[in-house]
Amino acid sequence: MSALQATGITKRFGGLLALSEVDLTVDPGEFVALIGPNGAGKSTLLNVLTGLSAPTTGRIALDGRDITRLSTHDRIRAGLGRTFQHGRLFERLSVIENVMVGAANRKGRSEAELRSTAFAQLRRMGLERFADQPISALTYGNRRMVELTRVLACEPRVLLLDEPAAGLNTGEVEDLMARLRAIRAQDKIAIVLIEHNMGMVMRLAERVVVLNFGVKIAEGTPAEVQADPAVLSAYLGE
Ligand code: ADP
Ligand code: MG
Repeated sequence: MSALQATGITKRFGGLLALSEVDLTVDPGEFVALIGPNGAGKSTLLNVLTGLSAPTTGRIALDGRDITRLSTHDRIRAGLGRTFQHGRLFERLSVIENVMVGAANRKGRSEAELRSTAFAQLRRMGLERFADQPISALTYGNRRMVELTRVLACEPRVLLLDEPAAGLNTGEVEDLMARLRAIRAQDKIAIVLIEHNMGMVMRLAERVVVLNFGVKIAEGTPAEVQADPAVLSAYLGE
């Protein structure tokens, strides 16, 4: 059974067709990259998958269960996690408090449990020394890593990442890639990664899905997609 299966997703914004009959299937533990030129509909697809935006038509299933009508919060509880293209942290809370907010999406945990879960997640991400600092004291790169840590504290089965490497320096990108590989290996989480850095896509993804003007124009291994003339012309036409 697929970890995530989206079928026939169409999304209109007034006269604009942002997504047109898009299908996306992700197997348990699979690493899929979602690429495409700016405005292709990548973030919109993530918004539809997570329930922030209702699809005009289409269905979404998580572990075989139809979640199309669930709230964002219930989808998180069902095991769907995401990060945003433009981060959303609580600036005045500490790092660990932000991660505890993520952990609290899971039911029935005491504050002590939330704190120990959050600390364990920070440690595996190499961020434990920042636990008690306010978000406002962190570098941009560390903020992005805290965002990732916060969503991991929700213990997702499927993790959707919207350009997590944007704005990171070379060393931070390497660190992020190593962490993503480790997360996937340890937790068997399926990952959908929106990413512009093709080097990163080639090194991480098993399968690549390409959107252009809301239409899926290619799907295959990184090597297949890179050699696809339709993909090349979509990028050249940008
Ligand atoms: P990508 O993430 O691939 O760069 P987006 O999903 O952000 O692309 O946007 C796809 C298209 O949908 C763009 O033309 C964008 O302007 C439009 N769009 C996205 N969100 C909205 C919205 N809330 N209202 C109207 N148009 C939107
Ligand atoms: Mg986007």
